[in-house]
Amino acid sequence: MKPFAAAALALAAASAFSQDVPAPIVQALAKADAGVAKIIAVKDSERTFDNTLGALDKILSDLDRDTSLFVFMQFVSTNAAERDAARAADEAISNWTIELGKREDLYKAIKAYADTNPRLEGEQARLLMFTMRDYRRAGMNLPAEKRAELTELQKNLNKLEIEFGQNIAEDETRVALMSAELKGVPQETLQRHLKIGEMYLIRLDGSTYSSIMENCSNAATREKCWVMYRRRGGQRNVRVLEKILKMRYQEAKMLGYDNVVDYQIETRMAKNAATVKKFYDDLIPIVKKKADADFEEFNAIKRKDTKDPKAVLNPWDYAYYKRMLEKTKYKVDGEKVREYFSMEDCMKGLFSITASLYGIEYKDVTSQAASLGLPIWHPEVTLYEVVDKKTGETLGHIYTDLYPREDKYSHAACWGLRGRRVNEDGTVDKPLCALVCNFAKPSADKPSLLPHDEVETLFHEFGHALHGVLTQVHYGRFSGTAVARDFVEAPSQMMENWVWDPKVLATFAKHYKTGAPIPASLLDGMNAARTLGSGLETEGQLFLGLMDQAFHLAPEGSVDTTKVANQIYETYTHYKAVPGTMFQAAFTHLTGYQGAYYGYLWSLVYAQDMFQRFEQLGVLSPETGAYYRQKVLAKGGSEDEMQMLREYLGREPSMDAFYRHLGLKK
Ligand SMILES: [Zn+2]
Repeated sequence: MKPFAAAALALAAASAFSQDVPAPIVQALAKADAGVAKIIAVKDSERTFDNTLGALDKILSDLDRDTSLFVFMQFVSTNAAERDAARAADEAISNWTIELGKREDLYKAIKAYADTNPRLEGEQARLLMFTMRDYRRAGMNLPAEKRAELTELQKNLNKLEIEFGQNIAEDETRVALMSAELKGVPQETLQRHLKIGEMYLIRLDGSTYSSIMENCSNAATREKCWVMYRRRGGQRNVRVLEKILKMRYQEAKMLGYDNVVDYQIETRMAKNAATVKKFYDDLIPIVKKKADADFEEFNAIKRKDTKDPKAVLNPWDYAYYKRMLEKTKYKVDGEKVREYFSMEDCMKGLFSITASLYGIEYKDVTSQAASLGLPIWHPEVTLYEVVDKKTGETLGHIYTDLYPREDKYSHAACWGLRGRRVNEDGTVDKPLCALVCNFAKPSADKPSLLPHDEVETLFHEFGHALHGVLTQVHYGRFSGTAVARDFVEAPSQMMENWVWDPKVLATFAKHYKTGAPIPASLLDGMNAARTLGSGLETEGQLFLGLMDQAFHLAPEGSVDTTKVANQIYETYTHYKAVPGTMFQAAFTHLTGYQGAYYGYLWSLVYAQDMFQRFEQLGVLSPETGAYYRQKVLAKGGSEDEMQMLREYLGREPSMDAFYRHLGLKK
């Protein structure tokens, strides 16, 4: 179980564990099996929505409700045995779910109901459509021998995808550099690497690479590392990737699609390759306009720094000069900024802003957790009840677990642990989410002070939690964040805007010692620096997304990936391709996304578009919040996302807000 991550490797994980399936999980699966048997036993002539599809939704919702906390413990428990048991549970449930999707008897039962052509509306119609679509996508309507062939192909594909990832993880690329060549690189970066005399053997992991790119004043060193970073995975992985692309094409063909992209994104908001192409065609000139301006700004500082009036920015100069611009031109000192963001003030601010916007209340119910049947796995964990202010109804619960500790999940994420479901007897199962983060701990003389980007992370993750808790759907399948993958980040990305708004910050950003509000001049600098380089950076995103599209749209899946990647790089970025590099060989997202990498920019564009309404009507306006809650958050995945967006906006979606987000003025 991962927060909003593809279940791509679920098959591969099978049989990785030898541990027995924990008893509560055995029980939950037995209950689910009994439920499935009951659906199958219904006579075809007596099938109804409730005894077939509704019953299946209930089984899956209950299974999630009964097991998700147990499984979640692998990421947060302080007890090693509990974490192991959680992993074993995770594997058992994944395997059960995969098997369920292949059960012919269940497929026949549901198809028998579908064949009665029932007149359904709203969520029920959508649930039937989605279920039949998923069966078709899994090849359930193919003849038996074709299906066997497909399964074989998918198994081999899975193996190759694991190999691709492994080759990246185990990459041995080292760069030999003398101390003198590493000027400016912090000691804490260097000390992680082998030193022989005056020579370092630098292993190019992500954080080392960024540290060198940002800090090393020697351009030749940056160039060397940039090139070597783009050689990871090597020709070996280029071959693996090109094999994968051919097999993915075969898979899509067998399932009746023209290409991999159409197959992969059928279930997403964009729906097909043609829509993605149109999206990029509209976006490219906007991004280029900002990137042109960025390029000038960066060339100017490079010329000044190198005293060469003809110097031109190279890709390995970007991060270095961005740092320099931040310090010299925008004068934003991150350490100063964080003094205005104590954890306590940030949480208070976040709660009071969202409570007023969405008409809700938060109650700390940590001390009552046991009576609610909810565990508190560590003293730093807090449990909140979310209550609707108007009706007094409990909407759901949110856990927070904010500080790092040993053996805990090491990033920031929001887990949707339980969804909402209205049961046939009228009772309502309520949602439960958990915010798991790793913010700086308070010390003896200082409270926890968040760097501004972590305040942004806090608001982002809380955006997911509200999406999960404020849902009003009927069926578990559509609860909260169960939306199309290319929409799931939009509500959370939208929330990030609040931490940049002076009116919002005035409500909670106060100096932790003096209580003074954050100075306007500091905030101006932060906002000016927010869009520094946004055009060039978005061009980097365009390159990745367009490369992903080109690879997965290639006829027969046959493509010279290095040649195509370099062409795209030269066409859509401000830089020249460097011979001998093969960035795609270490681009792990090519296995996770396969034609869906565009989703990152897609959801950002729509997040900014949705935010426009708040910009115009007030970022703290309860009416605007109530409208958004009703038109977007409440709906979860129960409606077509594009239609939902249109209805919320009251017009066609537009890129105008994204245009301004990049820092362009109209
Ligand atoms: Zn997110």
